[in-house]
Amino acid sequence: VPASKGEGKLTRSEMMARVGQRNTRPEMAVRSALHRSGFRFRLHRTDLPGRPDIVLKRLQTVIFVHGCFWHQHAACRRAARPKSNVEFWDAKLARNTARDEAVIRQLEASGWRSVIVWECELRELGWEARLTTTLTLRQASAD
Ligand SMILES: [Zn+2]
Repeated sequence: VPASKGEGKLTRSEMMARVGQRNTRPEMAVRSALHRSGFRFRLHRTDLPGRPDIVLKRLQTVIFVHGCFWHQHAACRRAARPKSNVEFWDAKLARNTARDEAVIRQLEASGWRSVIVWECELRELGWEARLTTTLTLRQASAD
Protein backbone atom coordinates (compact mmCIF):
# COMPACT_ATOMS: atom_id res chain seq x y z
CA VAL A 1 0.00 0.00 0.00
CA PRO A 2 1.44 3.35 -0.93
CA ALA A 3 1.67 5.38 2.22
CA SER A 4 -0.58 8.33 1.56
CA LYS A 5 0.58 11.21 3.68
CA GLY A 6 -2.51 13.36 3.39
CA GLU A 7 -4.01 15.49 6.10
CA GLY A 8 -4.46 13.49 9.23
CA LYS A 9 -3.31 10.29 7.61
CA LEU A 10 -0.69 8.04 9.07
CA THR A 11 1.65 5.69 7.32
CA ARG A 12 1.21 2.01 8.00
CA SER A 13 4.27 1.95 10.25
CA GLU A 14 3.04 4.95 12.20
CA MET A 15 -0.25 3.16 12.64
CA MET A 16 1.56 0.01 13.75
CA ALA A 17 3.45 2.00 16.34
CA ARG A 18 0.21 3.28 17.77
CA VAL A 19 -1.40 -0.10 18.33
CA GLY A 20 -2.29 -0.65 21.94
CA GLN A 21 -1.28 2.88 22.77
CA ARG A 22 -3.33 4.65 25.38
CA ASN A 23 -4.42 8.27 25.55
CA THR A 24 -4.57 8.68 21.80
CA ARG A 25 -5.97 11.86 20.31
CA PRO A 26 -9.39 10.34 19.52
CA GLU A 27 -9.61 8.94 23.03
CA MET A 28 -8.74 12.33 24.51
CA ALA A 29 -11.46 13.96 22.38
CA VAL A 30 -14.04 11.55 23.77
CA ARG A 31 -12.83 12.08 27.32
CA SER A 32 -13.09 15.87 26.93
CA ALA A 33 -16.62 15.55 25.59
CA LEU A 34 -17.66 13.42 28.56
CA HIS A 35 -16.08 15.91 30.96
CA ARG A 36 -17.94 18.80 29.35
CA SER A 37 -21.21 16.95 29.82
CA GLY A 38 -20.43 16.09 33.42
CA PHE A 39 -20.04 12.34 33.13
CA ARG A 40 -17.81 10.68 35.68
CA PHE A 41 -15.55 7.96 34.40
CA ARG A 42 -12.40 6.00 34.97
CA LEU A 43 -9.77 4.96 32.50
CA HIS A 44 -8.25 1.69 31.35
CA ARG A 45 -9.58 -0.54 34.08
CA THR A 46 -7.36 -3.57 33.89
CA ASP A 47 -9.83 -5.65 35.91
CA LEU A 48 -12.35 -5.60 33.05
CA PRO A 49 -12.20 -7.67 29.87
CA GLY A 50 -10.51 -5.79 27.05
CA ARG A 51 -9.20 -3.08 29.39
CA PRO A 52 -11.82 -0.57 28.22
CA ASP A 53 -10.61 2.93 27.38
CA ILE A 54 -13.33 4.60 29.44
CA VAL A 55 -15.49 3.14 32.18
CA LEU A 56 -18.71 4.75 33.44
CA LYS A 57 -19.35 2.68 36.50
CA ARG A 58 -22.72 4.07 37.53
CA LEU A 59 -24.06 3.46 34.04
CA GLN A 60 -22.42 0.03 33.89
CA THR A 61 -21.15 1.13 30.53
CA VAL A 62 -17.73 1.03 28.95
CA ILE A 63 -16.59 3.00 25.94
CA PHE A 64 -14.06 1.79 23.42
CA VAL A 65 -12.56 4.30 21.05
CA HIS A 66 -11.72 2.17 18.05
CA GLY A 67 -9.45 2.89 15.13
CA CYS A 68 -11.35 1.98 11.95
CA PHE A 69 -8.50 0.00 10.42
CA TRP A 70 -7.37 -2.06 13.40
CA HIS A 71 -10.87 -2.87 14.51
CA GLN A 72 -12.25 -3.18 10.97
CA HIS A 73 -15.12 -0.73 11.07
CA ALA A 74 -17.76 -2.27 8.80
CA ALA A 75 -18.28 -0.52 5.47
CA CYS A 76 -15.81 2.22 6.38
CA ARG A 77 -13.31 3.28 3.76
CA ARG A 78 -10.71 3.79 6.49
CA ALA A 79 -10.90 0.07 7.18
CA ALA A 80 -9.77 -0.88 3.67
CA ARG A 81 -7.30 -3.74 3.79
CA PRO A 82 -3.80 -3.41 2.38
CA LYS A 83 -3.34 -4.96 -1.05
CA SER A 84 0.01 -6.46 -0.22
CA ASN A 85 0.67 -9.19 2.38
CA VAL A 86 -3.00 -10.03 2.06
CA GLU A 87 -2.84 -13.25 4.06
CA PHE A 88 -0.94 -11.61 6.88
CA TRP A 89 -3.43 -8.77 7.17
CA ASP A 90 -6.48 -10.99 6.80
CA ALA A 91 -5.28 -13.19 9.65
CA LYS A 92 -4.22 -10.32 11.85
CA LEU A 93 -7.37 -8.28 11.39
CA ALA A 94 -9.57 -11.36 11.80
CA ARG A 95 -7.87 -11.97 15.17
CA ASN A 96 -8.54 -8.37 16.18
CA THR A 97 -12.24 -8.50 15.34
CA ALA A 98 -12.66 -11.91 17.00
CA ARG A 99 -11.02 -10.53 20.13
CA ASP A 100 -13.26 -7.45 20.08
CA GLU A 101 -16.38 -9.59 19.81
CA ALA A 102 -15.22 -11.88 22.63
CA VAL A 103 -14.50 -8.89 24.87
CA ILE A 104 -17.98 -7.43 24.33
CA ARG A 105 -19.56 -10.82 25.09
CA GLN A 106 -17.52 -11.15 28.28
CA LEU A 107 -18.45 -7.65 29.38
CA GLU A 108 -22.13 -8.31 28.65
CA ALA A 109 -21.95 -11.54 30.64
CA SER A 110 -20.84 -9.56 33.68
CA GLY A 111 -23.46 -6.85 33.23
CA TRP A 112 -21.51 -4.23 31.31
CA ARG A 113 -22.76 -2.55 28.20
CA SER A 114 -20.34 -1.42 25.57
CA VAL A 115 -20.40 1.67 23.43
CA ILE A 116 -18.00 1.82 20.51
CA VAL A 117 -16.90 5.16 19.19
CA TRP A 118 -15.23 4.87 15.80
CA GLU A 119 -12.38 7.15 14.95
CA CYS A 120 -14.09 8.29 11.74
CA GLU A 121 -17.20 9.36 13.65
CA LEU A 122 -15.14 11.96 15.46
CA ARG A 123 -14.74 13.77 12.15
CA GLU A 124 -18.47 14.20 11.73
CA LEU A 125 -20.37 17.07 13.24
CA GLY A 126 -22.71 15.97 15.96
CA TRP A 127 -20.79 12.97 17.28
CA GLU A 128 -20.51 14.56 20.71
CA ALA A 129 -24.25 15.16 20.97
CA ARG A 130 -24.98 11.62 19.79
CA LEU A 131 -22.66 10.10 22.36
CA THR A 132 -23.89 12.17 25.28
CA THR A 133 -27.51 11.50 24.29
CA THR A 134 -26.86 7.75 24.31
CA LEU A 135 -25.29 8.01 27.73
CA THR A 136 -27.94 10.36 29.09
CA LEU A 137 -30.63 7.86 28.15
CA ARG A 138 -28.74 5.19 30.07
CA GLN A 139 -28.33 7.54 32.97
CA ALA A 140 -32.09 8.05 33.04
CA SER A 141 -32.72 4.32 33.14
CA ALA A 142 -30.04 3.85 35.83
CA ASP A 143 -31.60 6.50 38.11
ZN1 LIG B 1 -14.77 4.18 10.38
